[in-house]
Amino acid sequence: MSKTRISVIGYPRIGSLRELKFASEKYFAKEISQEELNKVAHELKLSNWHTQKNDGIDFISSNDFSFYDGMLDTAFMLGAIPERYKKLGLSKLDTFFAMARGYQEGGNDVTALPMKKWFNTNYHYIVPEFDDSTELALDATKILEEFNEAKETGTETKINVIGPYTFLKLAHYKGTKNLCAYAEKAANLYKELLAKAAEAGAKWVQIEEPALVHDTTADDRVLFEKLYKIVLDEKKLSVLLETYFGDIRDSYKTVTELPFDAIGLDFIEGKETLNLLQKEGFPKDKILFAGVVNGKNIWKNNYAKTIELVNKIKAATEAEVVLSTSCSLLHVPYTIRNEIKLSSDILKHFSFAREKLFELTDLSRIIDGKDPNSNLFNRNQDLFKNERVQENSVLASKINGLGEKDYTRLPAFEEREEIQKNALNLPLFPTTTIGSFPQTKDVRANRSAFKKDQITAGQYKEFNKNKIAECIKLQEELGLDVLVHGEYERNDMVEYFGENLEGFLFTEKAWVQSYGTRCVKPPVVWGDVSRKSAITVEWSTFAQSCTSAPVKGMLTGPVTILNWSFPREDISLKTQVLQIALAIREEVLDLEKNGIKIIQIDEAALREKLPLRHSDWHTEYLDWAIPAFRLVHSGVRPETQIHTHMCYSEFNDIIKDIDNMDADVITFEASRGDLTILSALKENNFRTQVGPGVYDIHSPRVPTVEEIVSAVKKMENYVPKQKLWINPDCGLKTRGEKETVASLKNLVAAAKIVRNE
Ligand code: GLN
Ligand code: ZN
Repeated sequence: MSKTRISVIGYPRIGSLRELKFASEKYFAKEISQEELNKVAHELKLSNWHTQKNDGIDFISSNDFSFYDGMLDTAFMLGAIPERYKKLGLSKLDTFFAMARGYQEGGNDVTALPMKKWFNTNYHYIVPEFDDSTELALDATKILEEFNEAKETGTETKINVIGPYTFLKLAHYKGTKNLCAYAEKAANLYKELLAKAAEAGAKWVQIEEPALVHDTTADDRVLFEKLYKIVLDEKKLSVLLETYFGDIRDSYKTVTELPFDAIGLDFIEGKETLNLLQKEGFPKDKILFAGVVNGKNIWKNNYAKTIELVNKIKAATEAEVVLSTSCSLLHVPYTIRNEIKLSSDILKHFSFAREKLFELTDLSRIIDGKDPNSNLFNRNQDLFKNERVQENSVLASKINGLGEKDYTRLPAFEEREEIQKNALNLPLFPTTTIGSFPQTKDVRANRSAFKKDQITAGQYKEFNKNKIAECIKLQEELGLDVLVHGEYERNDMVEYFGENLEGFLFTEKAWVQSYGTRCVKPPVVWGDVSRKSAITVEWSTFAQSCTSAPVKGMLTGPVTILNWSFPREDISLKTQVLQIALAIREEVLDLEKNGIKIIQIDEAALREKLPLRHSDWHTEYLDWAIPAFRLVHSGVRPETQIHTHMCYSEFNDIIKDIDNMDADVITFEASRGDLTILSALKENNFRTQVGPGVYDIHSPRVPTVEEIVSAVKKMENYVPKQKLWINPDCGLKTRGEKETVASLKNLVAAAKIVRNE
């Protein structure tokens, strides 16, 4: 019997200690040169290749690295670079960064391309843009250079590339031409790419087509076939068609009938994958890459279950089965070896990217009969013998007792809207911000000194209160209507709440890339969640004591806390979200009791875990996610105004569900995307008051007054002006102070202009 081969779809690239982030940010600040940045990148790639090679991975990727984002790399590869970026006359790398981050230098003023969530993950990709001047042409430099870089340093790689179907499907078409106009050309460029890769000595190219796990239409499948008939024509190397984040139930036949040499299927998130295989079979002349090690979770793989699964897979096909991760490991942290503070009793349950490599090796050994005395197997099974944590039975019975009235706020929206109008007495087009203010060096230093016990709790609080007082003063001077305390106590909107709730665990270095150079460090839901004591009340009441204007209390909602954590797998997501909702509900009621009149409950990540297949939306997600939000605020008085905030996603198709959250006001990202959301609001008679962001906070660019005025005027065509708020599109914590003040000044000036008209 030959060895069971193992494959990794992709490896994280930001660096185990976020080296790429820090180097890139230095490069942006012009503190290091392009060469120095390249050197850091080279070392990271090298370390990834060597790690995987030493761990015995048979299929190691190149081109899973990116300076910002893989979709943007693909846009570059195909020459889909909008004219306005080319015109800047910058170097290739700087043009690339201008598309990612915008460019406001030397009299130029170009905004960044929009960003969107990558399928059901918290990773964001740059949305490629096509217009009528787009002329596609292949630039394979990066791909070939990376392949050679790996080869020269001793690793033979498979070349990763996002496939034409996914790329074209996710792109934005601004001109008169649509996807079909570019399909044939794009396919020919991929064909050319394969030829060049073969010429360079590559044996495998991994073409990634995650868009196949979305619902596909007959036309989509025709398109897919048309593309790949061209791409695969005359190929001189092996092509692995890789899919992930779900199953390809509607395109399975199309895919298996095309001349791919191997097909990667997701057996973790793909509910139907095994079924498909058993029903439809799998061609024995192809290789099956079976995603059996979860690429998204942080829990140890249960070898008994996985081996049972692999046996079923093998029973369904005679093809070679390569064991693989279920998706790129981009979505998990590097290694548990960076975690010093957590005990080994805890860490033994975790598996990050590096440990998943070991799991693949272990599994292949066990399957090949190379686990003498079943040591590897038994050690793994010991982890699953006993319950990992004890149940909180009081909480369990509370959750069992929840009924319709716990999910319903009274009186109904329209009645509350009137009551709040009188109670709050805000002007037309009220201005506000989303919560955080710039997290300057001193703010971070204060938090870190407190964490390291270098200052007392008293000193820590005093610093933050001074900051809050300054922040309130600034907002009063700017003339904003609804103020915030600035969120100086939080490093992250989820981590902060996790730290203050029972049931969460924290890592020190378990960073995961969120977009570009930004990373998040998701908490781990370890046990049952409950509130230990008040969390934000002291900050919010202090802020309110500094001003007569209303200060918004600022909380993170249960769905976002869950979606941005690594969830448990021993109880359902629904139970976990209800536990968190009950805890945040206590905080809401506490804020209200302490005189806070407006409370914002952020649900930035509401859409994140929305199933990729339409038929699962309600039954598997919205039917518990929306009620969880309602449970958080259903207990407040009619005059207390509940806000929520969302970003980075398309809301159009769940607009009714969002309205059903029954918040009084919602602010969301609209400035970076297009304004289609506004038509969706109008069409659906959206009832909740709205603050569609009037400028993009993800870029340092300062919006002009005219720009904001025109954005608001556009909005007025869709939303009755009595329902419109004026605000940036997200929190300001990643921005500098100077640009923040300048932007908000313009925002308030714009509000005055539209009010006077
Ligand atoms: N209140 C948060 C902030 O302003 C919201 C962040 C977010 O939406 N991602 O930072
Ligand atoms: Zn936001």
